[in-house]
Amino acid sequence: MRAGSGPRVGAQARTRTTGPYPHEGTAHVNPGAPAPDGSGPAYTGADPDPGPEPERDTGTGTPTAARFTGRVAVVTGGASGIGAATAARLAAEGAAVVVTDVAAERGEAVVAAIRADGGRAVLVPADVTDATAWDDVVAAAHSFGPVGVLSANAYACDIAPAHEMSLASWEHQLAVNLTGVFLGFKAVLADLRAHRGAVVLTSSVHAHTGIPGRPAYAASKGALLSLCGQLAVEYGPDVRVNAVLPGPVLTPAWDGIGEADRALTVEGTAAGRFGSPAEVAAAIAFLAADEASYITGTSLVVDGGWSVKKASA
Ligand code: NAD
Repeated sequence: MRAGSGPRVGAQARTRTTGPYPHEGTAHVNPGAPAPDGSGPAYTGADPDPGPEPERDTGTGTPTAARFTGRVAVVTGGASGIGAATAARLAAEGAAVVVTDVAAERGEAVVAAIRADGGRAVLVPADVTDATAWDDVVAAAHSFGPVGVLSANAYACDIAPAHEMSLASWEHQLAVNLTGVFLGFKAVLADLRAHRGAVVLTSSVHAHTGIPGRPAYAASKGALLSLCGQLAVEYGPDVRVNAVLPGPVLTPAWDGIGEADRALTVEGTAAGRFGSPAEVAAAIAFLAADEASYITGTSLVVDGGWSVKKASA
């Protein structure tokens, strides 16, 4: 990621179509009563006193299971944001995690935090575009065991319209966002095939929605969805391959984006806020886990309703 080039999601002016609260202006039934068979209190059209508003789970990522015990996971872009949260989530659920990233110092901090929480993790500083560096990643993974999960998060995004984007910039972005996934997949494929592994590619809502200034980013994220389907067909039933499409998620990728653009983006979501990295990590963990055993070749949008709100505007 180049400085100040965050994957801004839809920071354009748009018309508000609903109030800030999802239920604003509408009567709604307390989901607890009455029972469908007519027993229980009669519905009067007025909400019973709901009491104090419960603490809302905004994705602190508290694991509720240990779905990855005995598994080894490789997480690219694992030193920051969604990758770091995914590494933490998988480790908290029992996986031994190989964190790989070009940012060694931040990666060490992620690994140290996982270990401090009792998890198992190791850092391999590596560039996803370097085919030989993948040998180091696989060797580190094998100190734990065969790779069962690959979570691909590393990315690059340069902001410029196509007519101003250099070929070098275009090629760099495609190399990190797309070729890096191809190389990583190939590196761990034998393990995945032998152990019914799962791959989760981190795409973006930009795969479906054009936003000015991101031709290579959007093209590479769209290509990941095609690749996802292709790999799922090619390597099923042994390997499942899925993708997540995050919307606005507050990570260091947003560091260079101003308050006004951030506010517009938040307004564009149904959730009324940014997502947290842990909320995307929870979706990645679900797709990687056995409970998603019949889900392959598809994608899950994790955008706080940004896409549907946009579509309804
Ligand atoms: P981030 O900047 O917090 O983390 C990205 C990490 O990738 C960094 O640690 C960086 O060092 C690493 N990286 C960059 N180039 C690399 C390379 N060549 N080899 C290895 N590592 C490399 O970003 P994030 O917001 O957590 O993004 C993670 C993924 O989520 C990306 O694929 C991004 O496209 C996607 N995404 C993010 C958002 C968002 O709003 N944050 C929205 C949509 C999609």
